[in-house]
Amino acid sequence: MKAPIIGDTGLIMDIDHFAVHDGPGIRACVYFKGCPLSCAWCHSPESQSSGVELLYAANRCQGCKACASLCPVGAHQFAAGSHLFNREKCVACGECSKRCPSGALSMSARFVSLDEVVGELEEDMIFYRNSGGGVTLSGGEVLSQAPFAAKVLERLKTSGVHTIVETSGYGRLEDLLKIAAHADMFYYDFKLGNEDEFRLHTGGRADLPLGNLRALRNVTDAITLRVPLVPGITDTLSNVMAAYSLALSLDLRHVHLLPYNASASAKYEWIGKAFPLGELTPEPGAWERLKDAAPEGLEVLIQ
Ligand code: SF4
Ligand code: SF4
Repeated sequence: MKAPIIGDTGLIMDIDHFAVHDGPGIRACVYFKGCPLSCAWCHSPESQSSGVELLYAANRCQGCKACASLCPVGAHQFAAGSHLFNREKCVACGECSKRCPSGALSMSARFVSLDEVVGELEEDMIFYRNSGGGVTLSGGEVLSQAPFAAKVLERLKTSGVHTIVETSGYGRLEDLLKIAAHADMFYYDFKLGNEDEFRLHTGGRADLPLGNLRALRNVTDAITLRVPLVPGITDTLSNVMAAYSLALSLDLRHVHLLPYNASASAKYEWIGKAFPLGELTPEPGAWERLKDAAPEGLEVLIQ
């Protein structure tokens, strides 16, 4: 199911009401659906498509067959004790997920109105205030729903809620600047500095987010660069040093190093894809050494 995302309606995967790794204090984190990149290490592959799809966790299925009786297109079949889900047939109507007793079936996202999402976020106001927290918009890629994101941020700013936008910077500059007008802070990805490697591992162009970052820096200095540490891909000394140099050249003081997370492999199964990378282990102490290699003037955290 695909739907245009304009104005006062957005498509989100979830809201985490107790996020403690996405900025200071206790935060609510809103995960936007849709991303133009396809990073090989992506830990939320279900966020990439801009539509809603059925997620199927085969290991949770109890074989009750309720889904087969509800599906209007016959996407669930049972043969020789096995549950066969035909993803090609599924039109993401969501009927089966409503009645699955085991949680094996769920929808990857839901449409929300501006009032609905802001209302839900404002319910946690007391936690933000008492902890120095706020709201973080994440993804997917927030820029893929920029008009909606900008409106959410504008409303939260009016209510005095501190906001952070986590972004790859991969989108239109005018959208990024529209969002910047209402956001307090950015967590901005630095994935790979090398153009060829960026293209190989993310499917996109390195110069686009880099150019956008320079333009963003002209309007705010509240930017933390974030480098995913993917063993053998992004965690090389030359790549991390390129991130440090970029930060210093833009007079940015904060860099976060984000350790690789292989626990996403199950999510690839839920959308019927194979996990491209699998278990990758860094050399012992490698990431601490990258942190220690930071030039003076930078504050680097391994998150
Ligand atoms: S989401 Fe709808 S179309 Fe897809 S499998 Fe479930 S019932 Fe069938
Ligand atoms: S409704 Fe859920 S538990 Fe029952 S057969 Fe379908 S997927 Fe399995």
